[in-house]
Amino acid sequence: MKVLITGGAGFIGSNFVHYMLDRYPGYHFINLDALTYAGNLENLKAIQSNENYTFVKGSITDSKLVDSLFEQGVQAVVHFAAESHVDRSILEPDVFVKTNVLGTQVLLDAARKYSVQKFVHVSTDEVYGSLGETGLFTEETPLAPNSPYSASKAGSDLLARAYFETFGLPVNITRCSNNYGPYQFPEKLIPLIIANALNDRPLPVYGDGLNIRDWLYVEDHCSAIDLVMHQGVNGEVYNIGGNNERTNIHIVKAILEQLGKPEILIQFVKDRPGHDRRYGIDPTKITKELGWQPKHNFETGIEATIRWYLNNQDWWKRIQSGEYQAYFQEQYSSR
Ligand code: NAD
Repeated sequence: MKVLITGGAGFIGSNFVHYMLDRYPGYHFINLDALTYAGNLENLKAIQSNENYTFVKGSITDSKLVDSLFEQGVQAVVHFAAESHVDRSILEPDVFVKTNVLGTQVLLDAARKYSVQKFVHVSTDEVYGSLGETGLFTEETPLAPNSPYSASKAGSDLLARAYFETFGLPVNITRCSNNYGPYQFPEKLIPLIIANALNDRPLPVYGDGLNIRDWLYVEDHCSAIDLVMHQGVNGEVYNIGGNNERTNIHIVKAILEQLGKPEILIQFVKDRPGHDRRYGIDPTKITKELGWQPKHNFETGIEATIRWYLNNQDWWKRIQSGEYQAYFQEQYSSR
């Protein structure tokens, strides 16, 4: 089978490429990635000369390029490519609409034109908006995105749904909770806290630190997408989550404890506008219908993640310079 993976140089996409190459030696994977600030070919160094893997640098918004890839006989698409950082979407919403909405539409059109057998659209629980103190997001929860990022993802979800309803394209949509693990760009909470704590730098925590997210180790997200790609019922949405709800401050303190660093490094900063209070996901459908089970709980996952960041300091130190450094200053220095 020939599989097109978009955004495979990013955090989850690169974990997925590794996961699938190990698991399916008879498949060929084409990775289309524009290599924005979030894309990093270092994540894929170990498999760059694998004969079952081809990297193509380019944008999902480039319909000519996308068509040329489908002409090579792509049978399935797993679509990760996106602008993915909420804070950046507040600074620059337009690029989120271009990549996440228009880029998805270009891919859906090509998938339709070339009659692919499966199109997995990788989305997020953030499209459901914010929860109160109780309740969980199910696949029936109405979409109520609150940030330009989640609104652009919700727009792409609705397009994917419409291509199933209107054209019968074999689409699945997955909506996963917050991921963490190897290769995550150090602007997201967990790698940011690990990297800053190791450098004895301040650890910025939004608001009162009591926002709640459900956390899933990235490999468990990969195994869920693999199942959906092979067994998902066309047109269905699958929520993916780890039943690991934690406040942000709990996460920060857990990391400090494991690294033996003092809590004095914690610095509360002005809350993000429109900051959703709580996300919690009900993964019953994928568990019951496709037999998915995560392998990691939060404690084993965070331990593995910290170990990875300790063993791969060159990887994140190189990133924590240049353009990212300037962005980080702009985000946090004035607060
Ligand atoms: P990421 O930002 O680490 O990676 C995104 C990748 O997409 C990068 O490699 C980037 O270069 C590439 N890209 C961006 N614009 C592109 C374009 N126009 N054409 C081609 N490639 C482009 O993101 P991630 O955290 O790995 O998330 C991947 C997907 O999973 C996203 O769709 C995101 O919405 C979704 N998701 C993420 C999480 C999470 O916790 N990180 C949770 C649920 C869902």
